[in-house]
Amino acid sequence: MVSLDKKAICLGELLIDFVSTVNGVSLKEAPAFEKAPGGAPANVAVALSRLGIETFFVGKVGQDAFGEFLRDVLQSNQVNTRFLKMTDRAKTTLAFVSLTREGERDFVFYREPGADTLLDQQDIEEECFQGKGVFHFGSLTMTHEPAYSATLKALSLAKKHGYLISFDPNLRPALWKNLDTARDRMRQAMSRSDVVKVNEEEAMFVASCKDLQKAIEFIQFHCKPSLLAVTLGKEGCLLCQNERQIRVPGFQVTSVDTTGAGDGFVAGLLSSLYMFWEELKQGHALPEEALLHAGKRANAVGALTTLKKGAIPALPTQDEVETFLEENV
Ligand code: ADP
Repeated sequence: MVSLDKKAICLGELLIDFVSTVNGVSLKEAPAFEKAPGGAPANVAVALSRLGIETFFVGKVGQDAFGEFLRDVLQSNQVNTRFLKMTDRAKTTLAFVSLTREGERDFVFYREPGADTLLDQQDIEEECFQGKGVFHFGSLTMTHEPAYSATLKALSLAKKHGYLISFDPNLRPALWKNLDTARDRMRQAMSRSDVVKVNEEEAMFVASCKDLQKAIEFIQFHCKPSLLAVTLGKEGCLLCQNERQIRVPGFQVTSVDTTGAGDGFVAGLLSSLYMFWEELKQGHALPEEALLHAGKRANAVGALTTLKKGAIPALPTQDEVETFLEENV
């Protein structure tokens, strides 16, 4: 079996989440905020690195204390920041977040513009794509120019160099001026990806329908990813390849904060399927046991990510995943 290098490139937003120190309140009611590193592709980068994959992060932060803090966090998690750019043209993007009584996340973004949206085509260096591996991205760098064109350039280079392409839309409606544009760009990104991860809400948004099964069929028919993973919160996930749908139940844990669970899931899925990256790239159907195994590990990483407050502090190492799986057969 020919395999790709065990290397990952994650492209996207790297920002500060100011998280309400009190749960169950709206942003308006929040008394104080704690600084935490955020950005879905950055979480995936740290998660992959903890799971033993050599990982590079591509994105842009401000030339300010927050940007330096974020760069240091990635570096201290062994994520290579050679291709992380810093700019003095905008400040590091900020998001204020609180968990409301209903368990929903209340967000306000400071991003007009934020440094992450200023990633431009010149920032995307072909050298980054030496070797072969997996390229993972999301939709936050697709909301504004020049980051959108930069994302497309990186996607083209990743394809040119034979990377497996992975996409998680991470829908944040407040960041789009027009939701039809969001839907359009997400569909295009999915059509160019081999592995697509969505939650139920994102699947139904992209397909413009209220029925999950119909949404899955729509994405498979129109976007044709090699593997479509639909996460179902504590219920686990559905892994869909062609007509096959494998339901992998989630783990019962006492979760504290679900931030980053989806990102942990993506990293767990990609790292578990490492031996099949080439097959996925070629659109081959994988053995059922391989999908079950990967779904279970991805669910384990997702569940473990919910055990501590914040995403990055909670993302597990390879050893922690092994131990958890042994204890939760
Ligand atoms: P997203 O964060 O992208 O919306 P989900 O909330 O569906 O994604 O979570 C991703 C994965 O994390 C799930 O498929 C599941 O494996 C795991 N997970 C999330 N929440 C819980 C929970 N409360 N208990 C156990 N596992 C969870």
